[in-house]
Amino acid sequence: MPDMERLIGLLAKMPGLGPRSARRAALYLIKRRETLAMPLARALGDAAENVCPCSTCGNLDSVDPCAICSDPKRDGSVICVVEDVADLWALERAGAFKGLYHVLGGTLSALDGVGPEDLDISGLVSRAGAEETTEVILATNATVDGQTTAHYIADRLADCAVRVSGLAHGVPVGGELDYLDDGTLSAALKARHPV
Ligand SMILES: [Zn+2]
Repeated sequence: MPDMERLIGLLAKMPGLGPRSARRAALYLIKRRETLAMPLARALGDAAENVCPCSTCGNLDSVDPCAICSDPKRDGSVICVVEDVADLWALERAGAFKGLYHVLGGTLSALDGVGPEDLDISGLVSRAGAEETTEVILATNATVDGQTTAHYIADRLADCAVRVSGLAHGVPVGGELDYLDDGTLSAALKARHPV
């Protein structure tokens, strides 16, 4: 039983999985030892060992720079700023953006004590100052903290010779990019406006 309890205890730490669904998931896995449990264990091990944040943009990949940063077909003149890797993935799924990204790693939040030094803003400022960069799109979420962060970054970029734009807000207030359908995301990106 200890192995089973250990597995259930760990699964229960996953977001959205309480003890009851963790038990159900553990049973499901063990009944599918060869087809699910073993491959999953290997995938977890490989990911935990190899995946790391891209030192340029903050995307998660098993190579650094990540596949997006090192893709010669992408437009290196535009940088889309997102809060989280999940937002980057949402934009990639929508397939509407062919430039580069910058993952902040969160938003400014007075309440949670998150200041500019806690986010990768200085990395963004130096990328925005690079000669090839012509536009920075602020795609932070339409939450209060997301918009505060966008304004702060726009101020920090004021001295850079780049166009700074924001997503058009057909994006619902409080809406997180990850939950938007691809069409809404593409439209918001196309109709972006200067900040
Ligand atoms: Zn990257």
